[in-house]
Amino acid sequence: MRATAAIFERSLVSLSRYPKLKLAKIELDEPQEYEVLVKISSCGICGTDHEVLNGDLPTGKPCVLGHEGAGIIEAIGSKVSQFKIGDRVLISFPSCGKCRNCLRDQPRYCELAGPLSFGFQRLDGSHAIKLANGDKLYGNFFQQSSWSTHAITLERNLIKVPDSIDLDLMGPLGCSITTGAGAVFNELQPEAGSSIAIFGGGSTGLAAVMAAVVRECETIIVVDPNSNRLKLAKKLGATHVFKSEKEAIAAKIRLLTKNRLDYSLDCTLGGKMVPAAMESLGILGVCGMVGGGSPLHSFKLNHADTLYGKRLIGIVGGGGKTPNAHQQIMQLHEQGKFPLEKLVKFYPFKKINDAIRDSFSGKVVKPILKMN
Ligand SMILES: [Zn+2]
Ligand SMILES: [Zn+2]
Repeated sequence: MRATAAIFERSLVSLSRYPKLKLAKIELDEPQEYEVLVKISSCGICGTDHEVLNGDLPTGKPCVLGHEGAGIIEAIGSKVSQFKIGDRVLISFPSCGKCRNCLRDQPRYCELAGPLSFGFQRLDGSHAIKLANGDKLYGNFFQQSSWSTHAITLERNLIKVPDSIDLDLMGPLGCSITTGAGAVFNELQPEAGSSIAIFGGGSTGLAAVMAAVVRECETIIVVDPNSNRLKLAKKLGATHVFKSEKEAIAAKIRLLTKNRLDYSLDCTLGGKMVPAAMESLGILGVCGMVGGGSPLHSFKLNHADTLYGKRLIGIVGGGGKTPNAHQQIMQLHEQGKFPLEKLVKFYPFKKINDAIRDSFSGKVVKPILKMN
């Protein structure tokens, strides 16, 4: 069937320029046995899209990105059992369902998560989309490529969205929001009264702030160079903010927490702030680092900052399971305890280049494209 998608043809030359995507007609395959066709209603713009757009993550071109889709099921494959046509769904991370880690209920650590998310094809090597003239088009990004009016995805990616919730707001639960909140809920699991420092105040970091408030952390510190994000962090419940990404930040946090910071979380993609996040921790502190950046990023740790029972956890997608991790956040959102709407600005699909520009510049924390 025909759909309209945002086609990415050229990487950024420098960060002062933004990539220009073009809307064009594409042709979608029929859903395979375990696949679903979703009429996309909205899709977020996320840090991992940035990494592809600026050339830090490789892709063939032309390609279709977008991995925070939400919409309504229009067709299902012959072996789909948990969903039906008409279901409102958000599309999250792919997993194979068969490997050791999937069978251990750890789908975020699926052994095939890499090729499923970044292979730009199905696992069998076929392509779910092509250009309308029949030319090759790289899709299947996170097995969805949702910067499109329609997307083919796997049943295992899907989470039902209750009628009571604004469907267009839920796409970002597919990646960034669940990544940040899940890192706190599923991996760090801070106790009430504990302290946490969150490095990076984008959508992932701010989702972690909201989760830390739910967990009743007493001290919630946010570090980011952008003043607007810090203001927002305070509104969401951060108790202290620092406009800095410099090394001296660890000394400030140690002073503030009297060397007893319990948890830290690097949300800067690629572990850029892990050295400061580890140095900030007190004895027996735990540092989480969210994934999603270029595999070429690296960091150096001071020996002393890794001693004293400190631990560093590399976290993919916030850990947890599908759909439980997402349902938990949807429930909190319905109860008013997870005000995701404060992070969001909606853009019509045809304004995708404006949305990307505002996302790259940090002007908007979470741009969401509306396809209709
Ligand atoms: Zn697996
Ligand atoms: Zn993402």
